Amino acid sequence: MRERTVRRYYCDHCKKAGGSRFHMESHEKHCTKNPDRSCRMCDQLGECVTPVPVMHDAMRANGMAGLREASNRCPACMLTAVRLFPMVYPEPWPAKMTDAEESAYLMQSDATALDYKAECARFWNDLPRDDPGY
Ligand SMILES: [Zn+2]
Ligand SMILES: [Zn+2]
Repeated sequence: MRERTVRRYYCDHCKKAGGSRFHMESHEKHCTKNPDRSCRMCDQLGECVTPVPVMHDAMRANGMAGLREASNRCPACMLTAVRLFPMVYPEPWPAKMTDAEESAYLMQSDATALDYKAECARFWNDLPRDDPGY
């Protein structure tokens, strides 16, 4: 019999985990729950990432339209702002929500009516390239 201990790497910002340090480091760097993330979609535009508090101020002032402008129309940054927006969280937060359910909840909640697919379509329409899948 052989025993093997498998290393697991856990994102500091969300519940994602994996066995590849390389992949998890890349995920964590771009995780949409990481307030200091770097953004590959912004890289495509040659834009700098807008700080999350700036995006939140724009959301409070002008909702999704404000967020879209503040994020330079970057869907990944918009998703980050929505996922980190403090006011949409119900009390108490449903403990059993999966990441997918949580994202779905945030995207349909009144405070953060983000249509991520539509924002992505808008983004890639403005910048026609292959969708990298996030
Ligand atoms: Zn993560
Ligand atoms: Zn971005």
